[in-house]
Amino acid sequence: MLDMKIIIEGEIAVPVEPVTLRHFIDGGWCDSVDGAVSERVSPSHGVVVSRAAKGGKAEAEAAIAAARRAFDDGRWSRISGRERAKVLLKVADLIERETERLAILETMESGKPIGQSRGEVGGSADLWRYAASLARTVHGDSHDTLGEDMLAMVLKEPIGVVSIITPWNFPFWILGQKLPFALAAGCTCVVKPSEMTPATTALLAELLVEAGLPAGVCNIVLGYGAPVGAVMSEHPLVDMVSFTGSTAVGKMISATASGTLKKVALELGGKNAQVIFPDADLEDAADAVTFGVHFNVGQCCNSSSRVIVHDDIAEAFTARVVELSRHVAFGNPLNPATQVGAIVTPEHQRKIDSYVQEAAAAGAQVELGGNPLDVEGLGPQFYQPTIVTNLTPDMAIAREEVFGPVLSVLTFRTMEEALALVNDSAYGLSAGVWSRDVHTCLAFARGAGAGTVWTNTWMDGFPEVAFGGMRQSGQGRENGRYGFEEFLEVKSVVMRVGRTRAPWVNAP
Ligand code: NAD
Repeated sequence: MLDMKIIIEGEIAVPVEPVTLRHFIDGGWCDSVDGAVSERVSPSHGVVVSRAAKGGKAEAEAAIAAARRAFDDGRWSRISGRERAKVLLKVADLIERETERLAILETMESGKPIGQSRGEVGGSADLWRYAASLARTVHGDSHDTLGEDMLAMVLKEPIGVVSIITPWNFPFWILGQKLPFALAAGCTCVVKPSEMTPATTALLAELLVEAGLPAGVCNIVLGYGAPVGAVMSEHPLVDMVSFTGSTAVGKMISATASGTLKKVALELGGKNAQVIFPDADLEDAADAVTFGVHFNVGQCCNSSSRVIVHDDIAEAFTARVVELSRHVAFGNPLNPATQVGAIVTPEHQRKIDSYVQEAAAAGAQVELGGNPLDVEGLGPQFYQPTIVTNLTPDMAIAREEVFGPVLSVLTFRTMEEALALVNDSAYGLSAGVWSRDVHTCLAFARGAGAGTVWTNTWMDGFPEVAFGGMRQSGQGRENGRYGFEEFLEVKSVVMRVGRTRAPWVNAP
């Protein structure tokens, strides 16, 4: 599998030739009808990593038609959950077999450290296994007390054809939060990865075929949001759109999909905060804050890009986070020791920097970093871990999703003040509290307007536990029973099993 050439330099595996990626439609691979191709240049190494077919309306429509046919003829939607589970379990095994090569491609396309890519790709096998277990649990209800001659059943059926649109920051993990759950429910799918990180999704097609997924059940179209994603959101033969990405694009998809009132599930941005009370284990909390903001170079929907620290400990706590951030292993993402890699594009690097410079010009104090960096032997697309203090909650850096390794430090005195700061946001994805007092933790968890609240930890996620956002961080949930139910439709069947109703027919 994976026609990919690599050389080993010390402990580092380096790909030497770009991979070629094609659309996967109706069980076969194809180029775009117009022959268009787009290249992805590695943000860390400046070389072409992949050459992907660049799809258009024709490819999106062909993929949707294939998924519709595959759903309607029941080749997947009407087989048993047991048979579906078997395929999903096999895919999980194959993902583990191919983790190393997929992880190298993920790192080269995204700039994230190889250790994190291995965790993301290898760990996603567990999402496929968990979804396989759900495939065998689909059941509805029966209503047994409606009268002696009546029986009603509420059935759960696959919702139909699902468009899956994913972002560049965790391409394989996010796909794993959607595709196996949709397949477990019996849906058929059209998938579009980000144009910046298409490789791992495109190559998954080979594993789906090897695992025995019938043709047409999962189709993968490569290309840009417009036109491919737009067609996938608008098309009348699509029943649901499952999207992860920015809030701005989420709103566009919601508007487009409303033309046919198709179901839309959205996982969007966040401006998440960890709140530190003085009675917390401050060493653990400082470590979690450092990890929470720099993990994936801060390009993470769950990034804790705000820390809200109690006044009494703010100075010492901030000093510790600065010290820890100074020592994160920064540099070549292919090196297994690296913790912070490259920024996804030069434009995004400029955007991150503009938040920091704007805050500094308005009087904020940059305690660490605040500079784009050129790492020796690699490219210029890095950004130094950055900590900013002395800011006001109304500054853009403290309100908007910076999506970089940049921490905004704010302070509080009371629980009410802390919650007011946490909740004063258009977003509501995740929030965290650090305290040894269970009452403090519970009061915070109840008061925080966020889809996930972590107490004395940060960013732990499990396939079993629902994940999603409130307010402009999204709608619907992924993972767990709640995530699975998104892909199921409810059908009530009301049966009369006797003849006790008085006839309405008066004619002789
Ligand atoms: P993005 O919104 O720019 O793109 C996401 C996907 O949407 C890409 O595949 C893109 O091609 C596609 N797209 C763009 N325009 C479209 C259109 N008009 N119609 C249909 N599809 C279109 O997001 P991004 O920059 O790739 O990812 C970063 C964003 O994703 C951040 O805001 C981050 O917070 C969010 N995110 C959220 C979660 C979550 O679970 N809540 C997880 C990861 C990332």
